[in-house]
Amino acid sequence: IHSGQQQRICILGSTGSIGVSTLDVISRNPDVSVYALTAHHNHQLMLTQCLAFSPRYAVMADEATAAELTRNLKLHGGTTEVLFGPQALCDVASSTDVTVVMAAIVGAAGLAPTLAAVEASKKILLANKEALVMSGQLFIEKVKQHKAVLLPIDSEHNAIFQALPFNEQTPCYEQTLSQLGVSKILLTGSGGPFLERALSTLPDVTVQEAVAHPNWSMGQKISVDSATMMNKGLEFIEAKWMFNCQASDIEVIIHPQSIIHSMVQYRDGSVIAQMGNPDMRTPIAHALAFPKRIDAGVEPLDFSSLAQFSFCKPDYARYPNLQLAISACDIGQAATTIVNAANEIAVAAFLTGTIRFTDIYRINYETLNQIKLDEPTSLEQIIAIDAEARRVAEQLIKQGAN
Ligand code: NAD
Ligand code: MG
Repeated sequence: IHSGQQQRICILGSTGSIGVSTLDVISRNPDVSVYALTAHHNHQLMLTQCLAFSPRYAVMADEATAAELTRNLKLHGGTTEVLFGPQALCDVASSTDVTVVMAAIVGAAGLAPTLAAVEASKKILLANKEALVMSGQLFIEKVKQHKAVLLPIDSEHNAIFQALPFNEQTPCYEQTLSQLGVSKILLTGSGGPFLERALSTLPDVTVQEAVAHPNWSMGQKISVDSATMMNKGLEFIEAKWMFNCQASDIEVIIHPQSIIHSMVQYRDGSVIAQMGNPDMRTPIAHALAFPKRIDAGVEPLDFSSLAQFSFCKPDYARYPNLQLAISACDIGQAATTIVNAANEIAVAAFLTGTIRFTDIYRINYETLNQIKLDEPTSLEQIIAIDAEARRVAEQLIKQGAN
């Protein structure tokens, strides 16, 4: 009955936190069918997802996990065809059979398949903020050129999108904020698990403490980024590109309860906030059905039980990574690519116990200072800067260990 409006989705990163939430929303909404699912190594969860959603294709990172998945699918009567490798990711994301792509691979690895979807003029649900941090200008130019539709999944950007006067015909990057009567974007963040912790004890933070976000349940990398507020810094850069604005149009505000997901302040004094329980199924359902509204399985807010609503300015002594990302945003795309790459390496080293929590900032800062800042004009140049920053960050980590 719905064949005319049926959406066929490719989920890049289906076994991650966003991927799992996306499939949960889809399971409540039969109008969406699953064309392809992709994962790095988790073939067990991929098997379960394939048996539940019967995608045409599943893509794994390498031949060994792909073979394992194929064997298990046969055993259980699954019909999904298994592919592997980076080119297969781009192929399924740009297939003519796909109408919508959820970009939910974590980190720089998500850039190429997301760009492939843009070039194939898909509707892109963008969770992978690193794509805009690395290649904002180029990414948005390609979106316009190929008439792709870009919808934000990051809860803050989704909130801003909902609070702006956009409709289906006017995507966010076509107008300036002042044309829309906006005076400021108020980007909110919880401050993470260490908002109140004594500064002198930050070097002793354990991995377990850093990934224990007070309000959101997320992947490990973004959880550490929330603890350093690098996540808010990356979101600052993401907002600049997504909403066609200047750094001076955006203000970061700490709101520890994570009920307001961001706000837009208008010239006439109005402030419009988007609120809800902190559950990524809300922005996922919003973007998936936009401009309609569908069931997300999220508990409604109970205002009478909300004890308090508080706000404060971020303290850069506590969150130096936030300041670093904001200044990188002022410098340009080479700088944001470097900070993003260094941060991926530094966070991975923290997660394996190689460096301390407070070393993440030191690595990011020193990497930015060691690399010459030539503005990239092509994807190849961006990828080269990213690779150089990873080399420098790894070198710095090795030196620190000696
Ligand atoms: P996650 O670590 O839980 O999942 C990442 C997914 O990407 C997994 O399916 C994994 O298999 C896949 N993947 C990882 N490395 C890969 C590689 N090299 N090649 C191919 N696939 C790979 O991460 P997440 O928390 O779901 O976050 C995904 C993205 O969404 C990130 O960019 C994050 O910043 C963004 N995001 C997440 C949340 C959240 O609540 N989790 C909120 C806002 C934005
Ligand atoms: Mg966010």
